[in-house]
Amino acid sequence: MDNINREYIDIYINSLIKNENEELERFRKNCEERQLPIIHREVGQFIKLMIKQSNAKSIIEIGTNVGYSSIFFTQMMENLNGESRVVTFERSEKFYEEAIKNIKHFNLEKNIEVYYGDAVENLDKVNETFDLAFIDAAKSYYKVFFDKCVLRMKSGGIILSDNVLYQGMIASDDLVVKRKKTLVRNLREYLQYISEDERFITTVLPLGDGLAVTLIK
Ligand code: SAH
Ligand code: MG
Repeated sequence: MDNINREYIDIYINSLIKNENEELERFRKNCEERQLPIIHREVGQFIKLMIKQSNAKSIIEIGTNVGYSSIFFTQMMENLNGESRVVTFERSEKFYEEAIKNIKHFNLEKNIEVYYGDAVENLDKVNETFDLAFIDAAKSYYKVFFDKCVLRMKSGGIILSDNVLYQGMIASDDLVVKRKKTLVRNLREYLQYISEDERFITTVLPLGDGLAVTLIK
């Protein structure tokens, strides 16, 4: 598991979160059984709160996987017949195809647009602005994704970056395994960047696998 918190704390926090609906719950269970890297339940709950508080209607997401978080966000934005919109990026053909199937199953093909291919290139094709961004893909490219998202945020927009504590490795050298050294260095530089740059206000929450929340001033 990639939990950074004590297991009993995570289990307790999760026990407080109400299931959204059966269909979504079945989808989550299925993803968990397959050990797909979908958002932690408590991270989802936090983003739900952000969506409701800011009345977000548009989200840009890097890292679709099979579409769980896109579908979850879209449902939380409600207003499904209106302008609620998620634009998301997936480079794996297998996951892309599965995401398209899942989005159809939930009848959200009008709301969710999936770009197939590397997000670094595809982000440049997007000419709209968003209320929220969710970065949840290759950890070594977070800064590239972030800078491209910043250009596409509405004023007062928030960028959320998932897995930024990476199983605790980012906060402690003792936990770093050799083959993750580059990833750790990149994520540490990334957190320094979004924390120190005058254009942003960032807080890092030890939620799930670590979630950075950045307000673009
Ligand atoms: N947000 C999803 C989980 C995403 S897992 C959820 O919570 O349901 C991360 C995904 O990002 C993987 O499927 C991986 O294939 C994809 N990915 C990684 N690097 C990418 C890149 N550079 N461009 C597009 N997709 C990428
Ligand atoms: Mg994640």
